[in-house]
Amino acid sequence: MSVVGQVVAKPNSTGTVERTQGVVQKELDRKGEPMSSTPTHILRRPETRTLLVRWPDDHEGIYRYVDLRRRCCCAHCVHEITGEKLLDPTTISEDLDLPQMSLVGNYAIKFRWSDGHDQGLYTWPYLRELCPCDACAS
Ligand SMILES: [Zn+2]
Ligand SMILES: [Zn+2]
Repeated sequence: MSVVGQVVAKPNSTGTVERTQGVVQKELDRKGEPMSSTPTHILRRPETRTLLVRWPDDHEGIYRYVDLRRRCCCAHCVHEITGEKLLDPTTISEDLDLPQMSLVGNYAIKFRWSDGHDQGLYTWPYLRELCPCDACAS
């Protein structure tokens, strides 16, 4: 996210946001980061209440909805300044569903949970960090 922010913030002559993003995309592709860490698939699997995320390096993570929700880092769930956890994980039910999700720019995804919470942004690096697979968890 910070890389994209820096590039966008750079003064340039392209004018519109759209064209600026095009430049950013090319720039990032050339460097091989962080565009290369954008998931290729994000798939909801309501029957198991899990989210399958596949990365360009063929890495695949299967996230439980409830675990993702408990790791929400929005201002309601984590104190903005102290980093203190404000969300009590035990208040999040295992029955949580994910009725909706949407992309935010090209750097993050936003989930709308069945408990109505939709404040959290999960950037690609954060999502990757949360990967619960054996390789990442060890
Ligand atoms: Zn939150
Ligand atoms: Zn993993």
